[in-house]
Amino acid sequence: MKAAIFKGKGRIVVEERPKPEVDAPTDAIVRVVLACVCGSDLWFYRGISDLAHGGVGHEFIGVVDSVGADVSTVKAGDFVIAPFAYSDGTCENCENGFQTACLHGGFFGQGGDGDGGQAEFVRVPHADGTLVPVPGTGFSDETLASLLALTDVMATGFHAAVSAEVEAGDTVAVVGDGAVGLSGVLAARMVGAKRIIVLGSTHEDRHALAREWGATDIIDVRGGAAVQALMDLTGGYGADAVLECVGTAASVKTAFAIARPGSIVGRVGVPHDVALDAEGTFYRNVGMRGGPAPARAYQPELLRAVLAGEINPGRVFDLTVDLDDIAEGYAAMDERRSIKALVKVSDLEESA
Ligand SMILES: [Zn+2]
Ligand SMILES: [Zn+2]
Repeated sequence: MKAAIFKGKGRIVVEERPKPEVDAPTDAIVRVVLACVCGSDLWFYRGISDLAHGGVGHEFIGVVDSVGADVSTVKAGDFVIAPFAYSDGTCENCENGFQTACLHGGFFGQGGDGDGGQAEFVRVPHADGTLVPVPGTGFSDETLASLLALTDVMATGFHAAVSAEVEAGDTVAVVGDGAVGLSGVLAARMVGAKRIIVLGSTHEDRHALAREWGATDIIDVRGGAAVQALMDLTGGYGADAVLECVGTAASVKTAFAIARPGSIVGRVGVPHDVALDAEGTFYRNVGMRGGPAPARAYQPELLRAVLAGEINPGRVFDLTVDLDDIAEGYAAMDERRSIKALVKVSDLEESA
């Protein structure tokens, strides 16, 4: 089979690899229909974080190809979505809704010899706890893209809103207008935010999607000027809830500076070289929650919302490439020519 292989900074190559096989009786093999490139893939692509050379990609949807003897909730031929982490669904962390901390779980696409989702086939451990079957047939390309968005980006934006305890009527600030920040806007609207203020870039296309998804105000300056702009919009109080969707030192600093006393910063941007201001947040009673989104916990509700036509998170994809051309997807995102790249791997109906 073909698989995208990380070979060092700036190098993604599609190579032939052995097709994965059921190893443990709880495994499933999934034929990938769509995959995509994640903003977090850029950290290793840019050489900022280390990753063993090998299979990558943790966002994919596809059709079950085969299952181990102990798998009971999915069968060959089922169309499924996967979260970016696999989990058994039975340990106490899973039962508490934090499947990304599953005692027997892990993350897809960690390089080395492990499986990645940017490939024609992927081995899914703990298939019963991990995979979510999608009911129905005859999906449009738009719906498929939205289902793909549930594997990480939309679930992550939703987790930011849940972590920040967004409530109906809130004024919500979203730091970042990348794919996750935009998804955070959509999530805040789903939860009933009254006002959604985006602190982002100067990219007009991102502003347009943010406004379509419910953003009421957009601040496109940075640092102290952004903090001042938000304070001006909120009568000097700050936001009722803040979604930190970037993870840089500057964005985290801004997030805490614009949080109203007593509010919570919901953070889903993977922190890189971030130092938290323990004293400043202490005196303003500002809390912090968040981390890797337990996408699996949110997928049933988000799947229902996509299939009902209530949300269209697949709109974050503004570039489509074939698996053979996935290097262009990485490059376009790295150069900010694309918000998020969708990777076509195979046809959904192939096995029907
Ligand atoms: Zn991701
Ligand atoms: Zn578990």
